[in-house]
Amino acid sequence: MNLIQLFRKLWPFVKPYKWLVLVTLVLTLIGSSIAQVNALVLDRTVDAINELISNPGFEWSHAANILIVITAVLLSKEALSVVISYAQNFYGERMRVHVSKDLAQLAVERILKYRMAFFSRSGNEAGRLQTRIDQGVSSLSTTVQNTFIDLLPLFTSALLALILMFAANVFVGLTALFIVPIYIWITVRQGKRLKGWRQQMRQYREQKSHGIVGIIESINVIKSFNREGIEADKQWAIQSNLTDNLLNTRKLMLYYDGWKRFVQQIGTVLIIILTAYLVLIDYPGMTIGKIMYHVMLFANVTAPITQLQRIFDTLNDALIYAEGYFSVIEAEEEVEASGNYRPERIKGRFVIEHVDFSYPNGTKALHDINMQIEPDRVTAFVGLSGAGKSTIVNLLDKFYVPQSGRILLDGVDIKEYDTQFLRDNIGLVLQKNHIFDGTIEENIRYGRPDASDEEVREAARKAFVLDQVEKLPNGFKSLATQLSGGQQQRIAIARMFLKNPPIIFLDEPTASLDAVATEQIKASIDAIKKNRTVIIISHSISQIIDSDFVYALQDGRVEQCGDPDGLYHKGGVYKDIVDASARSLNIDKLASTLNS
Ligand code: ADP
Repeated sequence: MNLIQLFRKLWPFVKPYKWLVLVTLVLTLIGSSIAQVNALVLDRTVDAINELISNPGFEWSHAANILIVITAVLLSKEALSVVISYAQNFYGERMRVHVSKDLAQLAVERILKYRMAFFSRSGNEAGRLQTRIDQGVSSLSTTVQNTFIDLLPLFTSALLALILMFAANVFVGLTALFIVPIYIWITVRQGKRLKGWRQQMRQYREQKSHGIVGIIESINVIKSFNREGIEADKQWAIQSNLTDNLLNTRKLMLYYDGWKRFVQQIGTVLIIILTAYLVLIDYPGMTIGKIMYHVMLFANVTAPITQLQRIFDTLNDALIYAEGYFSVIEAEEEVEASGNYRPERIKGRFVIEHVDFSYPNGTKALHDINMQIEPDRVTAFVGLSGAGKSTIVNLLDKFYVPQSGRILLDGVDIKEYDTQFLRDNIGLVLQKNHIFDGTIEENIRYGRPDASDEEVREAARKAFVLDQVEKLPNGFKSLATQLSGGQQQRIAIARMFLKNPPIIFLDEPTASLDAVATEQIKASIDAIKKNRTVIIISHSISQIIDSDFVYALQDGRVEQCGDPDGLYHKGGVYKDIVDASARSLNIDKLASTLNS
């Protein structure tokens, strides 16, 4: 990305605040003009005092007059300058904060629109995405402030000082003009040499925060295996790279800063020598006061250019971080596809035809899947872990799109369906139930935000969690995250009951429930399966044999299908799994215990 592209992309974010920019520009012009007052006052003062002391008829009243005028001018100038710089800084901050808010909000809104594949792509892990967005937002908003609020005043002030130098004397003006490009050339070179290091820095920062998020997420595993040392070593490697990078960056910066200071000093010396020479040869208009005048003006020319480095750095950072940020918000191809088909009613008959699917990382999860999933009955997906059961549910929910084949719902390709409408009609209960940071009531109501309190209670009752919730000191207002795993699972089931959709996908819904709760939930599910399509993924033998139809999967392929009894008697994968489950339950011993 180059600067023009960057500003083209940034303009839409600045546009809403163009009045702020305009006001600041006017203030800038006033501010830059009064910045030259010190030099002018000093010039006049030196000459006036010089004249006064070389005059034989010296009078203190004259000197006092001069001092009163200087004091009045300098103090009023300073007062005005304080007000202007306050307003300028305030508006600058205001703009940065607003632009940063807009950039951050846009990133959130965009991410919410992306399909699941975006999140499972490598490089898009939570920590990395967060760093990319945070750094993009902070560096882009600083760039906006630097460019529109800081850069222009600096340049106006430098330009005005340069014009005054030319007006005072062409040779002096030319000397200043000769130094400036050298100064800018060094700054640009510095920026270019730093660019590679900065780019690498961005990657290290992403790695660092990704690493820290990873540690916090798996802290219990790390602790239980005593792997604190290994994790610390991994972070140490990243920190070392980051430190080397930082030190190299600083080294380069200091090297070039030294050169710049030296060039600036050469400029000042040249201007002193030149002006002194012009005074000595009695050049018209050249007085002793001009030496100070020119040196101060030259400082006004170079001071802003010293700041240019800071702005150049932020621009360079912005170019680097902008790529990361805009790659997140402009991933047009990642926006979830949606059709606009919205039937009156969904019956819930899925037909899957020759579906192949690979995840974005290349894992081929499904091969030539063919299925017919009928409403009004419970279909079970059975298979070992990794067989592809959850993946099929992901495809039916349009979380991912198959690479080949098609999926029909009530005879229409699910691609044609309005995605939000489709998901409104599907209830999904996952193995890992996502409980949000909020109360139990809020978590259940997520299933249908406009549900009444009574409906929320009813959903909790159906999920057999009402009694337990009511026993809590704050009842439905208790924090859901403080519930046990099994209770949270029932909250997620209550959420699904409240939604009351015609299609229900249950991915190991009773995995973290105790036996009593499992039995209760099973009863609830039996009660709601009427007139609905229910798909259940389960390792629980009782749930499997209770289903109406079974698909047995192995390595991403459908190996067998049929009713549970018939399938068992045929032998094969299904029988193997059921037998293994029965053995794991120690059924023989259980039966003898129950009979004794
Ligand atoms: P099951 O539900 O039968 O246990 P899954 O459908 O979860 O199996 O997984 C099928 C295969 O797809 C596995 O090899 C798994 O590693 C892989 N897989 C699942 N989710 C993802 C993902 N988000 N990205 C990449 N591979 C995945």
